Order: sequence, then structure tokens, then C-alpha cells
Amino acid sequence: MTIGIEEISEEDYNHYFHKWLYYYGGAHDVVSLKQFIQEYDSDSMGDINIYSVDQCPCVMCLEENPNE
Ligand SMILES: [Zn+2]
Repeated sequence: MTIGIEEISEEDYNHYFHKWLYYYGGAHDVVSLKQFIQEYDSDSMGDINIYSVDQCPCVMCLEENPNE
């Protein structure tokens, strides 16, 4: 899948993707994934490099913390 953003790692891309799924349910007609990444606000949604349910409610972070 190519979205025209080449400067992020695959891991970061996956994290953006799962955050986007959480916040927008994959609704491209509301906010596209590309737009979500470009307009991402780490102050309100958490640092993209941090995988913690304290910072982020997405599926990836939940799986990082199976005991919580
Ligand atoms: Zn997350």
C-alpha cells in the first residue's frame, strides 16, 4: 500500500494505521490515512514511537500490554 509518505518506517506506519482505525474506524471519507498522518498531533494523541495503553488506545498497544 502506497500513500505517498516515504519518510516513516513500516512500524510507525502500522501504528498510525491502527490509531487511525481506532479514532476514525477506517473511514476514508472522514479523514484519509494520509491526511491523518500529515496532521497527526502527538500532544493530544501520544508520541507515535510509544506503544503503551497509557498513551494510546489502539489494538497494537493493547497487545503490547496483555496483562492490562
Ligand atoms: Zn497505539
